[in-house]
Amino acid sequence: MYSINNLNKHYSNGEISHQVLNDITVTIGTGEFLAILGPSGSGKSTFLNVLGGLDREFEGNVLFMGHDLGSYNEKQMVAFRRENIAFIFQEYHLLPTLTVYENVKVGQYLNKKNSSVDEILEKVGLKEHKHKFPNQLSGGQKQRVAIARALIKGPKVIFCDEPTGALDSSTAKMIMKLLLDLNKEHNVTVIMVTHNQELVKISNRYIRMMDGRILSTIHNKQTSDLDEIGW
Ligand code: ADP
Ligand code: MG
Repeated sequence: MYSINNLNKHYSNGEISHQVLNDITVTIGTGEFLAILGPSGSGKSTFLNVLGGLDREFEGNVLFMGHDLGSYNEKQMVAFRRENIAFIFQEYHLLPTLTVYENVKVGQYLNKKNSSVDEILEKVGLKEHKHKFPNQLSGGQKQRVAIARALIKGPKVIFCDEPTGALDSSTAKMIMKLLLDLNKEHNVTVIMVTHNQELVKISNRYIRMMDGRILSTIHNKQTSDLDEIGW
């Protein structure tokens, strides 16, 4: 799905240049559940943003299904994101004046696919809450709305940037089950940033990042049994 070669990115501030991604070379297969682990400031979010087409300022080669993201103009990038990509962040980014139903409908509008909002809400267990507003929901419910909005686009890849960072562990478990189900039953590629050492066990493979570099890539026997890892 992705072939990334010698990806570099730096920020300049006057004479000071700060290398944020440092010569990253890696491939990511379709249907993988890839976890990215690393301390704060190691470049995890920046890496995700480049792969998901949110950040176009980079050097090196990023191929998505054979297409060079570096060659896309803004319009092509928007089309690429709409067609293929969904993001889930720690801060749910719901629209506060829209109901649960309407927030999910936004995702459908962004990429006309045939799944119904009600079906998706059923899947994430929010059917009874469809007329509520975000401020009437718990954190876990808000994250499930964000996931529903992502799912209805029918993305090929879901990027999750510390999706459970703000949630208690039983709620986090529910979110992880949803992601696992998507990955295993619907072959959606999941790329998830976490700094939870235990959580990486639900991935096929995890990458450790430090100072913008990939320190190691570890293949993993993916577990679907979250209880098994004490979750
Ligand atoms: P992580 O997600 O692993 O915590 P980030 O990708 O957010 O790391 O950040 C990597 C590095 O890039 C950090 O040192 C951060 O301060 C720096 N950085 C991120 N965004 C900017 C920006 N807009 N301008 C300058 N430096 C930035
Ligand atoms: Mg981050």
